[in-house]
Amino acid sequence: MKKRRQKKANKRLRRQLNRALREIDTLKARLYSAGSDTSCVQTLPSEVPSTDKRYRIGQNDLFLFAYPSELRKIEQETLRCDGIETGGLLFGHITRTDMICVDLVTVASTKAKREVTMFEGDPHDDKILSNSIIDGYGIEPFGSWHSHHRFGLEHPSAGDIATMRSHFAQLPDAIRRFVMIIATINVSNQVVINPYLFIRGIADPFKMQWLPPERVKDSPFSNIVNKIGVGS
Ligand SMILES: [Zn+2]
Repeated sequence: MKKRRQKKANKRLRRQLNRALREIDTLKARLYSAGSDTSCVQTLPSEVPSTDKRYRIGQNDLFLFAYPSELRKIEQETLRCDGIETGGLLFGHITRTDMICVDLVTVASTKAKREVTMFEGDPHDDKILSNSIIDGYGIEPFGSWHSHHRFGLEHPSAGDIATMRSHFAQLPDAIRRFVMIIATINVSNQVVINPYLFIRGIADPFKMQWLPPERVKDSPFSNIVNKIGVGS
């Protein structure tokens, strides 16, 4: 009899837990879509291809790994260019379990266009840099970063989304993902670094989360850009 009561109580608890989890999901979905500022950012649909469930909490969070040294580069360059946009490229690898790892962040060369509402890396210098890194170290460019300094726009702008659309059109079909990091400076003068994932065929980007740093060492690739002599 006692056992039966216990079983019943367990069942009730499980039901309550499931209800609470469903409520959390609804709240999260509401949070992601709240306000016009985040209207272009989607939650991650469960059917997004080949994204390992282990790197999600619920179905909305998609994690990204980056070395602390590389995030510091974004922070320093964003603060150095306070008032104008700046940026660079992201290099790394995607593990067999589909985890995206940012191994190296670069800062665009002095030939890049850095303006109040526009950043454009120098194509020639970007190409030299990319080829040298791919050939020499086997890590691939899979994204870019740029700052929105003090716009208060922590996600890709409508212009960024349009740029991505034409970018995918020019890239081989096999390239299905592109990571875009947006850095902003908040009212406390801190740099906020937000990663987004663009998927071919889906216009709006998905917000990603930083994986809590499991590896505390700086990137082993961090110094190679100085050797190439273009960018930093
Ligand atoms: Zn932008």
